[in-house]
Amino acid sequence: MVVSVLSMDEFEIIKNYFKRESFRSDVLLGIGDDGAVLDLKALDNENLVMSTDTLVENVHFPSSINAGLIAKRALCTNLSDTAAMGAVPLWFTLSLTLPEENTTTAWLTDFSQGLFEEAEKFGCTLVGGDTVRGHLSITITICGKAPDKEVLKRTTAEPNDMIFVSGTLGDGRAALSLIQQKKFVSERLLYRFYCPQPMIDLGVELRNLVSSCIDISDGLVSDLTHICNASKVSAVLDVSKLPVHEEVKQLFPDDFAEFGLYGGDDYQLCFTAPESEKAKIINAGMRSNSRITPIGRIVKSMGSNKVMLEGMDVNENISGYRHFG
Ligand SMILES: [Mg+2]
Repeated sequence: MVVSVLSMDEFEIIKNYFKRESFRSDVLLGIGDDGAVLDLKALDNENLVMSTDTLVENVHFPSSINAGLIAKRALCTNLSDTAAMGAVPLWFTLSLTLPEENTTTAWLTDFSQGLFEEAEKFGCTLVGGDTVRGHLSITITICGKAPDKEVLKRTTAEPNDMIFVSGTLGDGRAALSLIQQKKFVSERLLYRFYCPQPMIDLGVELRNLVSSCIDISDGLVSDLTHICNASKVSAVLDVSKLPVHEEVKQLFPDDFAEFGLYGGDDYQLCFTAPESEKAKIINAGMRSNSRITPIGRIVKSMGSNKVMLEGMDVNENISGYRHFG
C-alpha cells in the first residue's frame, strides 16, 4: 500500500528508515543523538579523507526513476571521489531534502534499501544526517582513510608522464541518450548510469605508482583539464586509443568519440604516471579487475592549450559538462 509520509515528522522518518545497527565496530554512537561518535583508531594512523557532493532531481538524475536507484547513484558517485583520492571509505552522512508530494513510505523504503545495500558493498556506514522539506536533493559527505603521502592528488602530474584511464569511456553519455529517448536497449549501460561502481580497489592499488589522479564525472577532457590546471602542465590525447565499448560504437557510430572525450558520468579513473611504472599499473588493474588503457602524454604547459587531441577528427567545441534534461 502506498502511504504518504506527510504525517511523519523528521524524527519518525529517520527512526523508521535510516536508523540501523552499524556493521562497523568503530561507530561508537550512530544516528539518534546530536552527533555521531567515531573511534579514530579505525584510521590506523592514516589520514582522514573527506568529500561531499549534492545530487538534485532533474539535474543529476531524472525524476521518474526508482528511489533505490537514486540512492545507489548518489552514494556511488560520491564514493567515486573517495576512489580518486586512493582512499578507503569508512563513514558517511546523508542530508535528504524531500518534497511534500510524491514522498511515500514505499519511496523511502526503496531509497533506504538501495542506500544500505550499496554502502555495505563498499564497507562504509551511515552515521548521521538530516531531512528537510523541499525540492528533492541528496547531499552525501564521505569520510575515508589513506596513508600519509600516498593520497592521490591532481597537483602532481609531470611532463613526459603517460596518461591512463580505467574501464570504458562514453558509457554514461550513451546511457543518458538512451534514457532521454526512452530506448531501454542495454541493461549494461543503464546499470553503468544508475549504479556506477566506484573504483575503490583500483585507487588503493595505484598508491605509490601514479603521479596524479581524478575521477571522470564531467567528461575526460574536462576532468583531465583539472589535472593540467592543478599541475601547471598540458596533455596530448591520442583519440584513436580511447577505450570505447563496442556496444557504444554500434549504437552511436557517429558520436562515440565525442561521448568518450566529453560525455560525463563515466566515474572511471584518469591518472598519470612515469612510463617506468606502466607494467606495474597494468598489473594493478588486473588485480582490481580493471582494464587500464594508456591514452596520451603529459607535456610542458602550452599556456591556455590544456588538452590537445590527436588521431581523429573530433568536434572540439562540445562542452564537457552538461546537466540532465
Ligand atoms: Mg571527482
